[in-house]
Amino acid sequence: MSIQQIAVIGAGTMGNGIAQVCALAGLQVVLLDVADTALEKGLATLTANLERQVRKESITPKDKQDALARISLSTDYAVLRSADLVIEAATENLELKKRILKQIDSVVSAHCIIATNTSSLSITELAAVVSEPGRFIGLHFFNPVPLMALLEVIRGLQTSDATHAAALQLAEHIGKRAVAARNSPGFVVNRVLCPMINEAIFVLQEGLASAKDIDTGMQLGCNHPIGPLALADLIGLDTLLAIMETFYQGFNDPKYRPAQLLKEMVAAGYLGRKAGRGFYTYD
Ligand code: NAD
Repeated sequence: MSIQQIAVIGAGTMGNGIAQVCALAGLQVVLLDVADTALEKGLATLTANLERQVRKESITPKDKQDALARISLSTDYAVLRSADLVIEAATENLELKKRILKQIDSVVSAHCIIATNTSSLSITELAAVVSEPGRFIGLHFFNPVPLMALLEVIRGLQTSDATHAAALQLAEHIGKRAVAARNSPGFVVNRVLCPMINEAIFVLQEGLASAKDIDTGMQLGCNHPIGPLALADLIGLDTLLAIMETFYQGFNDPKYRPAQLLKEMVAAGYLGRKAGRGFYTYD
């Protein structure tokens, strides 16, 4: 495979999971964030997840050590110079992502593919920021990355066949099942999933049932492995709100308006698991 060295921008919920999966698959990984504290937190999560995999015997202690040895941390974009692939997995905000992509673009080599893990933003619009939009693609991983088998591969209008083929090859190499999608707000999976979660928040807001009962209803009535409100906490309520706002504006359709309670919770900083409090509380 032509991709051997990757860089992941953002060491948060998704970034550390992407780094973990790629390092376990034998790739050299640089994890980059704005602050050392974010990097240290990301590495601690990643290490704990690898340890869990060792306890479950899905990897050996040596696999864990080897994977950790392949991961380096940095706050300096200059390290991207040797990357074959950069995956942007920073906060879901269009202007921030455009800024980051310009920074990446100014450093990487001519052969490097630039990808974004955005949940909902336009791949075509983001591709327009870089100097070689043909080498830009959406690689949408799912949370938690080490456990979820899917990788949605999204072509922008400009994405070349060679870039698409390289992305599919990467998916296979890291043990993910690729599903190809065309660019549209939220692509395929989140287009279906996030309005369902938003509706669950409307149901809670209207006082029809408790959070626990809404989740139990969807688990036992629809065979979902996790209820929609617990899933919202896992995704991060700020990310979910950003996705719903992208749908609302992107389709110009009121059916996608975010629930008021979701906006309130984000304003309060109750962002879900990563904040210790969302629809549920966490240690
Ligand atoms: P997060 O809030 O957990 O982490 C974001 C990270 O980006 C933070 O560590 C932050 O410090 C870092 N960051 C911010 N600005 C930066 C910059 N200029 N340079 C480098 N790092 C920077 O968010 P997340 O849940 O990991 O989401 C990241 C991306 O993945 C978003 O685009 C989101 O939509 C997408 N995504 C999220 C999920 C999910 O379930 N959370 C699933 C699929 C895709």
